[in-house]
Amino acid sequence: MLRTRPETAAWRANVARVGFVPTMGALHAGHLSLVERAKRETDAPVVSIFVNPTQFGPNEDFTKYPRQEAKDLATLEAAGVAAAFVPSVEEMYPPGDRMRIEPGEIAEALEGAARPGHFAGVATVVAKLFEIVRPDVAYFGQKDFQQLRVIQTMARERYPAIKVVGCPIVREEDGLAMSSRNAYLAPAERAAARVLSRGLFTARSAWSRGERHPERLRARVEEVVETEPGVAPEYVSVADPLTLVELKLPANRAVISLAARVGKTRLIDNVLLGMEVSDLK
Ligand code: AMP
Repeated sequence: MLRTRPETAAWRANVARVGFVPTMGALHAGHLSLVERAKRETDAPVVSIFVNPTQFGPNEDFTKYPRQEAKDLATLEAAGVAAAFVPSVEEMYPPGDRMRIEPGEIAEALEGAARPGHFAGVATVVAKLFEIVRPDVAYFGQKDFQQLRVIQTMARERYPAIKVVGCPIVREEDGLAMSSRNAYLAPAERAAARVLSRGLFTARSAWSRGERHPERLRARVEEVVETEPGVAPEYVSVADPLTLVELKLPANRAVISLAARVGKTRLIDNVLLGMEVSDLK
């Protein structure tokens, strides 16, 4: 396990093509799908585990976010990952550190609007991690679709040598997108949360039958989600997958994303229509 920047630099010096999977830990099959892809496509995967304080708002779940370092390290070892970078907060944010990345327009809507400062925190920590790990390829999940676009935009501008690859959402059997935050759900909440993916899949079916109108696609999602009183939607968005600008007119590709509260837990999910996540650069 690597704890410090110098340890990581020394490890990096001995690997030709590095594939990087940044995570906040509490690892599940979604994370491991990124790891498997990194293993296939590069010489060695490195997984970081760091619950990044700067991407949490003051009233969010930073302190209670699930932390299970020993279990995660065993999971990574079983997955054949030799290198885990597990820095302390001080290692990532040393005293006097002033580095901060402003992610720009792509970060303004949706999660950026709901969570002020969130993507500045994400972009800043990922930039720091990129500079420490110096990966050739970095793998991000479609689950956090806007995050993927924020990082791809940042990488294009600041780290053009790093390829940022989007990987499809891994779901539970009933459709719920895997997330470390699912662990917060009580059994009844876990059952209710199913309507999120069901709503998205209903819109996806409408799309596959030819529906392209953004308002009607949004309505299909909302109809399903509204059947579940235990779920309070925050937004349902039908946007251009490249810019995340809301669609006003029918288009030949779209991302439908949503955020909702299930009890105290805030969940997000999305479906990409008319294109594959791996087409995004
Ligand atoms: P996190 O630990 O939640 O910050 O996630 C680390 C990485 O795993 C991010 O790139 C996420 O988008 C990705 N990820 C999280 N959940 C899933 C999932 N269900 N399927 C695919 N990727 C995921």
